[in-house]
Amino acid sequence: MSVLVEQAVSLLKQAKEAHGDGLVYPCSMGLEGSVMVDLISKHGLEIPVMTLDTGRLPQATYDVISAFESRYGIRVRVLFPDCHEVEAMVREDGVNLFRKSPELRKKCCDIRKIRPLMRALEGKQAWITGRRRQQSKGRSDLQSIETDVVYGLKKYNPLLEWSLNDVEAYVRANDLPYNRLHDAHYQSIGCECCTRAITVGEDERAGRWWWENDDVAAECGLHVMSIKQVTGDIEGGEGI
Ligand code: SF4
Repeated sequence: MSVLVEQAVSLLKQAKEAHGDGLVYPCSMGLEGSVMVDLISKHGLEIPVMTLDTGRLPQATYDVISAFESRYGIRVRVLFPDCHEVEAMVREDGVNLFRKSPELRKKCCDIRKIRPLMRALEGKQAWITGRRRQQSKGRSDLQSIETDVVYGLKKYNPLLEWSLNDVEAYVRANDLPYNRLHDAHYQSIGCECCTRAITVGEDERAGRWWWENDDVAAECGLHVMSIKQVTGDIEGGEGI
């Protein structure tokens, strides 16, 4: 475990040295987020933490944002979608458009997540992700440092080789704040309406957009470059 921590901290330091203020951490507020925020804060790396408020998040996610701010004395930058874009989308396609087709689900993710993130990444050089190789088949070939062809930024994956057990053990050992939905067998947590608990033997990301029943489609577009590497399909993507 200590080797994994050392490697993660080393990569975070490398990223900070290379990019300085041009580096950000868009945080998913899941278990990986708990580990990353702790490592960043504990080692004084001063990497800004941001997150996306899509307007459809579970209360447990707001609670963990608040818990991070109290514990580490930071202010998480919360990014919101453009209200005019959301209103136009709902007027055209309804409040639950994401259930109607993969295309409308991607449209919702684009407006509520990807566009706000792109605005936040303007002028930046690099970002940190909490992705792990074991999370899904679509992530098995990730590299610790990637060049994101879509956003034109470097992408660092400090927890790449961590297993779920490693993440849970670190959270427990350090008594970190974490999203309480994990106690109810939620693994990858996003919008309340698009996230469910998983059962034994299911892929960690099986609880995201489960009705589409497609490992590659079960991403939202934020990490489209990695999916493209694996599948040659530019339509893929993750929720941070
Ligand atoms: S996860 Fe669901 S509600 Fe959230 S932005 Fe994507 S489609 Fe919309």
